[in-house]
Amino acid sequence: MAKRTRIDCGWIVSVDPKIGEIKDGSILIEEDRIVEISKTQDVAADEVIDAPSMIAMPGLINAHIHTWQTGLRAIGSDWISSDYHKNMHSNIATKFTAEDMFLGNLFGGLRQIENGVTSVFDWCHGIRDLEMTDRALDGLEESGIRAVFGHGTAKAPTYEGEVPYTHVPHPIERLNHLRQNRLHNDDGLITLAMAILGPDFGTFDVAVADLKLAKELDLLSTAHVWRGYNQNVPEDANIRDAYIRLGELGLLSPKHNIVHGNYLLEDQVRYALEKGCTVSSTVLCEIHGHGAYPLVGIVRDFGAMPSIGTDTNTLVTDDMFAEMRGALYTHRFQIAQNKRETGDYPLTTMSINSREALEWATIGGAKAMCIDDRTGSLTPGKKADIVFLNGEDSNMFPVHDPVFSVVEHGTIANVEHVMVNGEFLKRDGKLLYPADKYVDLKTKIAASADRLMAEGNYRPVA
Ligand SMILES: [Zn+2]
Repeated sequence: MAKRTRIDCGWIVSVDPKIGEIKDGSILIEEDRIVEISKTQDVAADEVIDAPSMIAMPGLINAHIHTWQTGLRAIGSDWISSDYHKNMHSNIATKFTAEDMFLGNLFGGLRQIENGVTSVFDWCHGIRDLEMTDRALDGLEESGIRAVFGHGTAKAPTYEGEVPYTHVPHPIERLNHLRQNRLHNDDGLITLAMAILGPDFGTFDVAVADLKLAKELDLLSTAHVWRGYNQNVPEDANIRDAYIRLGELGLLSPKHNIVHGNYLLEDQVRYALEKGCTVSSTVLCEIHGHGAYPLVGIVRDFGAMPSIGTDTNTLVTDDMFAEMRGALYTHRFQIAQNKRETGDYPLTTMSINSREALEWATIGGAKAMCIDDRTGSLTPGKKADIVFLNGEDSNMFPVHDPVFSVVEHGTIANVEHVMVNGEFLKRDGKLLYPADKYVDLKTKIAASADRLMAEGNYRPVA
């Protein structure tokens, strides 16, 4: 029989409604799976790990991140969205090599693990060829993180005689290559999805072609949707009812994920949710240079599960604890504001509980990524993707309710151990990635970022 490891924890926050939270319980792990969660600490095991001060919880799930950009951290802190597209996609992204993709994804994957994230929806939309695709995957793989790899395409400027990227369907040959080779297995640690242009960033015909292809290949698809409908802007006519038209063509299902959607008209959002589509909000990024409320509120009112992610760390932090709190406080504020405006004020109860925000950052992300059968909660049968936060730390102690402690007070400093697929990737506060390789990686990614910024004429503060 395979080796069984029991971890005795101070608290277990399962995010599984049937299990709830347990004080002084244990988690039994066999190979890559959780086999039992117990209210006692006496279940037979081959090895026992004593963790009396730890809060065990499911690994955080970052439902939307452009991991490839990690080395360019914070360069766009004062950019608005149009600056980002101009400086990043039309300029710096065009200078990326396959090696830059590798470094960004490896360093970004390790950074997420260190911060308590065990799964990412890696939205890789700087890819121009197969070599870049392969190196992006190498980076994720070497980090050890669980990932849905959203294969995307670059949004380079159009030169004379070229077809603009908006008119180019997703490259089927690259998907076929991935399907036939390293991403043929939908049960692996890294699985394939299509990060498509969608009806906002591409033409409607391209959106139709890409969604048909996703259906044919039975792949999850995801699209950024940022623009809304302004009747004074002619090009907005396309987006006005795009999702309804896509639905009428039978192209919407739980295997389509809408990112942002802040400016979509509410009837379209509700229609897409009715069809089972998921929505991922990147709240800190969305409010960074905008006044539009994230869709978490509409999704939750509809009775569906929101998911959240950190998006691009060129603009905002890639810290999922910050994103979780940002999403929670933004929506608490939004509800209070609405009630104040309608005279239904002051509040008589808290509008959104902390527990809900933890769901957005765990099981919500797993559902959006269609991997909730294997992760997103501490549930027997699921993979052992577990994070341990130290309840003895000064910002956590004393722990009265572990969910409150995690959601409202947790930081990277509390992330003591991280386990992905039954393997520790961080232990006793330290990444287990070899220290000498990590130093080398930092040197390389700093050099890569310096070169990219120089070639893109981006001038950091001297
Ligand atoms: Zn994004």
